[in-house]
Amino acid sequence: MLLASLVMRALVTGSSGFIGSNLADSLTHLGHEVVGIDRRPRPGAPYRHTTADLNDLRLTSVLSEHARWADVVFHLAARPGIRTTLPDIEKLRYRDIVAATMRVLEAVGPETHLIVTSSSAVYGGARPSSGGVRPSREDDPLDPKGGYARRKVEMELICQRWAERGGRLAVVRPFTVIGERQRDDMAAALWLDGASRGDPVTVIGSLNRTRDVTDVRKVVAGMIRVAELRFAGVLNLGAGQPRTLHELLEAVFRTVGRRVPITTRPAPIQEVQTTYADNTRSNQLGIELATDLDEVVARQHAARLGHEPGLVTT
Ligand code: NAD
Repeated sequence: MLLASLVMRALVTGSSGFIGSNLADSLTHLGHEVVGIDRRPRPGAPYRHTTADLNDLRLTSVLSEHARWADVVFHLAARPGIRTTLPDIEKLRYRDIVAATMRVLEAVGPETHLIVTSSSAVYGGARPSSGGVRPSREDDPLDPKGGYARRKVEMELICQRWAERGGRLAVVRPFTVIGERQRDDMAAALWLDGASRGDPVTVIGSLNRTRDVTDVRKVVAGMIRVAELRFAGVLNLGAGQPRTLHELLEAVFRTVGRRVPITTRPAPIQEVQTTYADNTRSNQLGIELATDLDEVVARQHAARLGHEPGLVTT
């Protein structure tokens, strides 16, 4: 149990999602007081859960009440994913990334620490440097590729404007997050499912593309540290070690205990070649993000087989 003075009152938006549910559970486990908001219900959540859409104007007073109660608001609700092909995807991204963030900003009081989740996608991939690429630093110019990344940049800008009026803001930029409850549209989840069934798996672009794959437990611990330190500024949350898709796929095959055929399809522009986090700043804050690929893939697989309390989705 924590000392009373260290107990945080935390509001988590997107708390039924992959990272949000892990974060809300972890905060609760550490003895913090947690309220979660998500438009998807989460039966059995070990904290107070409100099922509501952030854009629903009928929620205004509830959202303000929760936001003003909280010492810290972790804003994770969004419409993530760069490859969604829904016909009205741009409208949906605007609603769930930009408009939903505006609703949160209207509700949060000046004393509250706001931690918003952006994405490594805002960098548009690692920059070339002599002999290869160099890691993306928080103060690099942003170069979003595709609608998701552009909306995240827009979200960062409106949050920065809010902070200029005196709010305490941290913008975290996670790199490819992996682990228990990973979204079904993400590569490791798709490959674990496919390989488990013995079906071929699809690789977008080439197996030599790289992603700075980062364990969800490390990302969550990093976000909690950001809150404990009341850190203000921008922060990468990436392991700092790009892994080829080949390495990730081999970890999936080892975990499942079988190899399956691989098909490839061309990579659209938003599927950048390399992501690579500069983690100088996270190191300075004492945040450790190194990721053991085999261990985290095995945990994710076990969770999908039901060996952990599963995430209920609708
Ligand atoms: P997720 O889709 O699993 O979770 C997002 C949750 O937000 C969902 O449960 C959804 O129902 C909820 N939500 C969306 N719009 C809402 C609204 N208008 N009102 C209420 N709830 C709403 O996504 P995730 O992978 O857990 O990502 C969480 C955050 O981290 C997102 O902001 C995402 O952009 C960011 N991020 C994720 C990754 C990754 O690798 N998963 C990497 C970088 C950044």
